[in-house]
Amino acid sequence: MWQLDTDHRAAHIGAALGYLGDDERAPTYRVGRAHYERTWRDGQWEGPEEDRPETPPDFLRAVCSCGWYARVLVEMHPDAASSRRRVPQGQDRARAFWLAHALAATSAALPDDAEQARARAMEWLRTLADSQPLAALALTRQLRADVDEIEQRAVRHARALEVPWEDIGAAVGTTRQQAWRKHKGLAPLDEKEARDVLRPTFLPSYQHDDGHPPYTVTDIDLTPLFD
Ligand SMILES: [Zn+2]
Repeated sequence: MWQLDTDHRAAHIGAALGYLGDDERAPTYRVGRAHYERTWRDGQWEGPEEDRPETPPDFLRAVCSCGWYARVLVEMHPDAASSRRRVPQGQDRARAFWLAHALAATSAALPDDAEQARARAMEWLRTLADSQPLAALALTRQLRADVDEIEQRAVRHARALEVPWEDIGAAVGTTRQQAWRKHKGLAPLDEKEARDVLRPTFLPSYQHDDGHPPYTVTDIDLTPLFD
């Protein structure tokens, strides 16, 4: 099970479902009347011993306790020989997909460098407003359009990672309903854009004072995942 240090509500607990061969459904086990799909964790099938598969899974799918699941299956043992670099094995790959989802869903914290950039820009804009008010007024018009563009972009990316409307609303200071009504018409990301969403290029700017990100990813080498 995977969890972020920043997920204080424990709303996003991640895991990897195991799949065998060409089966479209993960092996299940029964408790009472309920069927549970088996997860693969640290080299073991989880769940009771009865009917436990005898071989490790061929594919894994990242899933989350919030209901999110990765659209793609990752190979359990990717062909390392075809790559010049170390290829992360199945569980790390699955976890990277879940991580992109969970980070997007839980982290409303502004990175330090974003706050610094905003403060610098504001200082410059105040100077412009004082010395060239007409130029500053023309610029505010452009900035409003820029802000709309960024808001729409952020909503489309948040939706691609299935961040709930409730959290999107909270981030912009409105209700779930208002956020949905305003943005429901936005086009979803296309396939290429959606792939890029999973590229965690933003990770380095989220750092604590000690230089470590506020979640545990240090044991995963994410770089080769997206080549
Ligand atoms: Zn989740």
